[in-house]
Amino acid sequence: MKRNCKDCEIEMKEAFINPGLGMFVLQHDFKSKLFDKLSKINTLVCPNCGYIEFKAEKPELFK
Ligand SMILES: [Zn+2]
Repeated sequence: MKRNCKDCEIEMKEAFINPGLGMFVLQHDFKSKLFDKLSKINTLVCPNCGYIEFKAEKPELFK
């Protein structure tokens, strides 16, 4: 997943949010069963200005 910073136009780097307990996930519905319809969140950071961008790995879950 390559993407350039919208401000600096240089390549953003993959980053990992550390929530302390494991990876950050996006859930389809608050009432969904645990581990049902979860998408990993891909995170990119601009090494120049620090701009951070999130993208759901499985956007189709949210249709
Ligand atoms: Zn930037």
